[in-house]
Amino acid sequence: MEYRRRFRAGETVFAQGDAGQCAYVVEEGSVDIFTRAGDREILLATRQPGELFGEMAIIDDQPRSAGARAVTDCTLLMITRDQLNQRIERTDPILRMCIQVVLRHLRDTLHRLTNDGARLDAGPPEQLSREAREEALDAIRLEQELQGALDQDQLVLWYQPLVDLQKGHVAGFEALMRWRHPERGLVPPFTFIPAAERSGLIVPMTRWAFRRACLDLKDFQDAATHPPTFMSVNFSGKDFMSPDFLDAIDETLAETGTAPQVVKLEITETLLMHSPETARQVLGACRDRGTSIAIDDFGTGYSSLSYLQSLPADTLKIDQSFIRAMLNDDSSRSLVRSIVGLAKGLDMKLVAEGVEGMPEAQALRALGVDYGQGYLFAKPLPRADMIEVLRGWQDPF
Ligand code: C2E
Ligand code: CA
Ligand code: CA
Repeated sequence: MEYRRRFRAGETVFAQGDAGQCAYVVEEGSVDIFTRAGDREILLATRQPGELFGEMAIIDDQPRSAGARAVTDCTLLMITRDQLNQRIERTDPILRMCIQVVLRHLRDTLHRLTNDGARLDAGPPEQLSREAREEALDAIRLEQELQGALDQDQLVLWYQPLVDLQKGHVAGFEALMRWRHPERGLVPPFTFIPAAERSGLIVPMTRWAFRRACLDLKDFQDAATHPPTFMSVNFSGKDFMSPDFLDAIDETLAETGTAPQVVKLEITETLLMHSPETARQVLGACRDRGTSIAIDDFGTGYSSLSYLQSLPADTLKIDQSFIRAMLNDDSSRSLVRSIVGLAKGLDMKLVAEGVEGMPEAQALRALGVDYGQGYLFAKPLPRADMIEVLRGWQDPF
């Protein structure tokens, strides 16, 4: 596959009406983009080094709406259909719809330019656009409903205990978000957190959750015989990018009278990989305040160990997939054992997620894992039910 092509001055790069194979970036020289109205040729643009052209036909899979011709000898870098389309498919559905709409308007304008102002009879939207539009509309609706959920107090936090595997009491909690939808009932986070992250709504949602969790921890501490010492809250990449992140944390800690030492920020490796430098700085500032930091779903991302070591994290949460496989599968057991060694070497606390049975719990305890979280001990529960569970808590071992 060639990635670069050279054209002589005057040579055609592609003709109007051709099927598009790739888009181009001018590296050297210049290229005229033109359209035809009868015998007349209308120059639309001249593309210079660094500029992109020929992308329209690639994005919407329609014939070339204009021709392209080398003005001088030139070198063009090719962008394949796959390179562009894979990115467009991965992008936000609302953005994808905007791209399609803009393209259609542009084609319509070009058509009118060359057909005495006649509108383009675009015909019925092809299958792909209809699907893209439906997806975009669903996304818009979901985001607006989510905004409503925030405004109307429909979000709730449920809590799952993290059990000290050596002592058998509740050491802390993880706050897990739910949406009490007026029609759909209780909506689990995987159906709305991604939309909240895409739209940026996650920022006010996390702020709300952080405040609520700080307040509820006090009630849990009052209810338990061995007062739990920490509350874990899930954070997403967007939270860290927000410029007043640290101010908001400080404000909530002060307002709720919460010591920074009792809060744990849970973040995933994926979040860290997107902007490693910002993550390191913001997390460093959190650590300076005394808050603790846990790497969630550990073992499922691809971050390098040297990067992880450079982070101010103090807790690793071993992903549930390893715990589940541990009893039947030697390699998973060895992996968990290695993570225990790693955590001890780095002086980090370890949490095993998704502990569903006593045999795993015993095995993890024997390996020296600090905390266990999972259905064996308790499912995530609303605040009031959690208080009841704490009152009647007994050592599960
Ligand atoms: P996560 O942070 O890894 O949370 C642990 C998930 O594992 C929870 O699912 C929990 O209910 C589930 N779980 C706990 N023990 C067991 C077990 O023994 N077996 C099995 N099969 N599952 C168990 P949940 O509450 O549905 O949350 C799913 C994900 O949604 C969370 O995964 C987290 O990534 C995200 N999430 C939840 N709440 C928030 C939030 O407030 N903010 C953000 N940014 N993300 C959240
Ligand atoms: Ca988590
Ligand atoms: Ca997890």
